[in-house]
Amino acid sequence: MAPDRSEDVVIDIHGLTKRFGDKTVVDDVSLDVRRGEIVGFLGPNGSGKTTTIRMICGLLRPDAGSGTCLGLDIRKDANRIKRLVGYMTQRFSYYEDLTIRENLDFVARIYALPDRAAVVKRTLERLGLYGRRDQLAGSLSGGWKQRLALAASVMHQPRLLLLDEPTAGVDPQARREFWDEIHTLAEDGLTVLVSTHYMDEAERCHRIIYIAYGKIVAGGTVEEVIESSGLSTIIVSGRDVGTIAKIVRDRPGVEQVAPFGNDLHVVGPDPAALRAAVDAALAETGSDAVASAGQTNLEDVFIRLMQTAQAGDLPANGRPTATERSP
Ligand code: ADP
Repeated sequence: MAPDRSEDVVIDIHGLTKRFGDKTVVDDVSLDVRRGEIVGFLGPNGSGKTTTIRMICGLLRPDAGSGTCLGLDIRKDANRIKRLVGYMTQRFSYYEDLTIRENLDFVARIYALPDRAAVVKRTLERLGLYGRRDQLAGSLSGGWKQRLALAASVMHQPRLLLLDEPTAGVDPQARREFWDEIHTLAEDGLTVLVSTHYMDEAERCHRIIYIAYGKIVAGGTVEEVIESSGLSTIIVSGRDVGTIAKIVRDRPGVEQVAPFGNDLHVVGPDPAALRAAVDAALAETGSDAVASAGQTNLEDVFIRLMQTAQAGDLPANGRPTATERSP
């Protein structure tokens, strides 16, 4: 008999829908997330990421749809769910005139954690904050503030961490350290659902989900999402790439043209048409630039998905063509 894996299912939602007034901002969203997974939630501003996250953790009641979070019903057990998840938003919401330690102590009181001093100390040590424990939160840099916020959201040892654009406005080094921390937590069994705008962060997730206009339009590993887009890329390197860009932009088969340093990335769905367009542009300009097959990147795919969604050309039921659900 197959082992019972139901314990491993941390989020399992079906057809989640939320309307504000006459606007449907989350539209028939289904997804499941398993223990220890880091799932990235991507999509343009206003596409419904925060609203979905808030429904999952019991902060907002869906208008339609159902599901469980940590085995509890998102409609009936909202209060219990709230205590079992950690939730971190991009807005820093701690007391600037309290020290790091005092802020954590305050949060520990709210959760009524037993043995508070020991819990705070352990959290300070675990998140590398012990040396700064007496520093006022208001005097911290963006990266340290975010580390404090992360510490506060994991102190009660949640089984699910929901991060809503946690690294907005934080420098690359601090972002990298933050993600190292997230992976360490996930290795210990914590499940993470994180919304982000950054491509490098998407690449650090085990799986990503792309949402546009409230609908999931793609999902899977980064490789699967790129593969299922069906896009090809040609990289043009050499002189005159600016002129080539202007010519090739309007040619049939070309969807995107983007300079990356001294290279030009030309992207389209049909490799033969793409190659013909690039070769014609090179011939017309008499350029000695070199065109070679390149790797389509996630940003190219997201631009395509956003444009497709804007044109209203979503897959049936807003369901992605790749797997938005884990196996
Ligand atoms: P994202 O997190 O992807 O940026 P949100 O979930 O925050 O998107 O918002 C989705 C849409 O719902 C936006 O158009 C936003 O203005 C709208 N919205 C969010 N919360 C409310 C609310 N409480 N009342 C009315 N509209 C809202």
